[in-house]
Amino acid sequence: MSIRDPFKLQLVRWHRLEKLVCRRCGATNPPKATKCRKCRSKNLRPKRIRSRR
Ligand SMILES: [Zn+2]
Repeated sequence: MSIRDPFKLQLVRWHRLEKLVCRRCGATNPPKATKCRKCRSKNLRPKRIRSRR
C-alpha cells in the first residue's frame, strides 16, 4: 500500500514533526508548548517517526 500523494505526504510529515511528546506522562502537546499541559514538566521531546522510503 503506497500512496504517493505529495500533498498528503507533506501533511503527514508536518503532523509528525509538529508535535511534542512528554517524556514523563507521554501526553502529546502542541508544538508551541514549552511545558506539558498535563503534568507541566518541561521534559518534552519532538515526536519523530522514522520516515520510510
Ligand atoms: Zn506530561
